[in-house]
Parts: sequence; structure tokens; C-alpha cells
Amino acid sequence: MKLSPAPVDEETGPDPNRHQVVIQVGDIKGSPDPRYHQKWQVAVYARILEKMITDQGIPARVSHSGFIVSPQPGDRSLSAGKKHMFDLTPFLAAFPSLCHTLGQILAERPADADHRLQTRCTACSGFAGCYAQALSREEIQFLPALTKGELMALRDMGCTTLEKTARVLENMAKGSEDGRSDMKFHLSPGQRATLAGWCDAF
Ligand code: SF4
Repeated sequence: MKLSPAPVDEETGPDPNRHQVVIQVGDIKGSPDPRYHQKWQVAVYARILEKMITDQGIPARVSHSGFIVSPQPGDRSLSAGKKHMFDLTPFLAAFPSLCHTLGQILAERPADADHRLQTRCTACSGFAGCYAQALSREEIQFLPALTKGELMALRDMGCTTLEKTARVLENMAKGSEDGRSDMKFHLSPGQRATLAGWCDAF
């Protein structure tokens, strides 16, 4: 976190409320370049800080830009770290809908929450439940590197098991269209071929 006594934001110009202190939020990471989820992490810190400042009436504000410090190849010391600046505005603007979605999910039974297994899930404390749920209800989640769009398309086609997915994809390859014209999500020929290959491998 960096405090600036000047009421100026590097990215957005003078502070209209002329706050005495502008607080810039950042984090130090071990990856060579900032990752998307790391920026979200900084945005969460910024949002929490913003709320504390508002609730406590502190004469300060959070900068509209955040930063992530990454180590440099050959010298992982903090002093050699590279500072990557990024705009926090789109992240902070997404918080109302993000909180709304989280509220909806938390209002439902955990077993009914939608999810998509990804490689990083193994590090999550909820992995055992999501894994068991995918195993019993939607084994297509185990297709490697399945994107959100592909998952939605397979759901649209009523595919939950690998067996049915293989059959549907095979029929599509033969020209018999299993997908309906009103489907919201579609698979490209390349995606179909990849998914069919994975189904065969399983
Ligand atoms: S394992 Fe964790 S990160 Fe993965 S889908 Fe479940 S809750 Fe989300």
C-alpha cells in the first residue's frame, strides 16, 4: 500500500473532493507477470479499504490505479521487483453485480450452486464437494480445459455424461444435428473434434 500526500491520482487527474491522502493499493507476487486473478485480489483489498474509509469518515480515498510487484529473472529480491500499474476502475465497477451474484449463490443450498471445475480447484477448500457433485451429476466437468462456453453448450444439448456427449458429438459430425436452432451456445467444428477426442480418450 502506498500513501500519497498529494490529492492527485496518476491516472485520473486531480481529486474532485480534495482529499488529503490518496492510498494506492497493491500486492507483491511471485509470478513474473501480473495475473488476472491477482488483479482481482488487489481490487478486493481496494474495495474493503474504500468501505472502511467511508464508514470511518477518514479524509482519504483509494487511488483508481492499483499495482502488482513481480520479481525479475535472476534477482528475486524485493528491491529489484518490477511494479506493474493497472486500472482498478473496471474491477471496482463490477463489484455490485459480483456481490449480487454471490448473494444469490449463498442464498441457495450449496449443492445447488453452479460451478465449473478447473485445475486451480484442487487448492480450494470446497474441492471435495465440487468434485463429488461433478462425479455424480455432471461428469463432463472432467473434460480437460473445458471452457465456460463449451460447458454451457453441452448443457444446452442435455449432455451431462461423457457417454451421451460422445454420442451427440458423433451424430453432429455425421451431419445429424443434435443441437437445436434456438440454442444460445454453439460449438465450433474444432471444439467438437477436441471434445470428441477427449471423450474417446476417457
Ligand atoms: S472447487 Fe472451489 S474454486 Fe473450484 S468450483 Fe468448487 S468452489 Fe469453485
